[in-house]
Amino acid sequence: MSVPSPASQVRPGDETTPIPLQMAPRRRGKPPRHFADLTAAERVASVVEAGEKPFRAKQLATHYFTHFTSDPAEMTDLPAASRTALAETMFPQLIRPTKVMEADGGTTVKTLWHLFDDAKVESVLMRYPQRTTLCVSSQAGCGMACPFCATGQLGLTRNLSTAEILEQVRAAFRALDRGEIPGGPARLNNLVFMGMGEPLANYKAIIETVRTLVAPQPDGLGMSARNITVSTVGLVPAMRKLADEGIPVTLALSLHAPDDDLRSELVPINTRWSVDEAIDAARHYYDVTGRRVSIEYALIKDMNDHGWRADLLGKKLNARGRGWVHVNPIPLNPTPGSIWTASDREVEDEFVARLRGHGIPTTIRDTRGSDIDGACGQLAAEEDDE
Ligand code: SAH
Repeated sequence: MSVPSPASQVRPGDETTPIPLQMAPRRRGKPPRHFADLTAAERVASVVEAGEKPFRAKQLATHYFTHFTSDPAEMTDLPAASRTALAETMFPQLIRPTKVMEADGGTTVKTLWHLFDDAKVESVLMRYPQRTTLCVSSQAGCGMACPFCATGQLGLTRNLSTAEILEQVRAAFRALDRGEIPGGPARLNNLVFMGMGEPLANYKAIIETVRTLVAPQPDGLGMSARNITVSTVGLVPAMRKLADEGIPVTLALSLHAPDDDLRSELVPINTRWSVDEAIDAARHYYDVTGRRVSIEYALIKDMNDHGWRADLLGKKLNARGRGWVHVNPIPLNPTPGSIWTASDREVEDEFVARLRGHGIPTTIRDTRGSDIDGACGQLAAEEDDE
């Protein structure tokens, strides 16, 4: 076992000054209120306020959540005279696609969205033979400052609203439903909060989004909570709060190092909540929800990919019991200007083998979309926009 001395490692500050953690958004403006921001009861109230009968709320919900449309021309069961005004009040345009990039024969689609205030975010749709996954953004930019992540370099512009997130999801449901993604009409099965942003730093909007995602149609999109993954840098109090919500979403913790020295560089929030505190909160999530937690570990060449770190990780996870966790190593996706690269194949194999040797289920995350800068950690909408 060789433990490299800190001086021999490539460090984040070598070529660029690390950017600071940023807890508060730069921009405070709020997008217009949208039907998808509201609870079922609020939708009724809002329709009545607009001078319509209460049952119109259900009709609008059916158009939006069952047929994925907000276009008044498609709402022929509403009175022709008030249809357009009603739809415009309830469904203000919140997100506008300005660039679409495809890979894998059109089964991977990255969309750049412009928001009402010209903030920009991206989402990525990935269709596999057996399932379809959407990766959504929860914030414009991100304040968590992880040095290997493209979004982390942007800083935080602002939180997205519930409807701004749900609109990304509706667009995916719609494209799949209309047969626009090769493979025939389909439903969206999986949703991961792994686009731009730290979801647990936008807690209220994320919880409301999840509630609507899992509500049966037409009140929501009828997704299964277990197929929704919330990925976090390890905001410990929010992880504990999430456990108590009674919605068994899958929790993923971006660990990336099992030791505080290195993790504080790779995931700067570690200076506030340590490796042990983050792993304890992950175990607590499992205790309360019964959902097996994922540990994400971007494998960065000569940085965090040492055998001894795999052993230390295995030990720390096993110290908290068996069968509650699995590890998802992610080959580092290159980001512009980064000095880091993915680990060599043999090193990756060894890392995985060691974890499995400790009895930890371990599966390498695929890097679908990396050729269109649409893989984990590559979303950098501000820079993409010309
Ligand atoms: N803020 C959330 C979501 C981030 S994206 C979080 O940190 O968990 C989802 C995963 O991609 C995180 O584990 C993140 O650390 C990882 N990631 C970021 N940049 C990456 C890169 N360049 N290569 C591989 N994974 C990366």
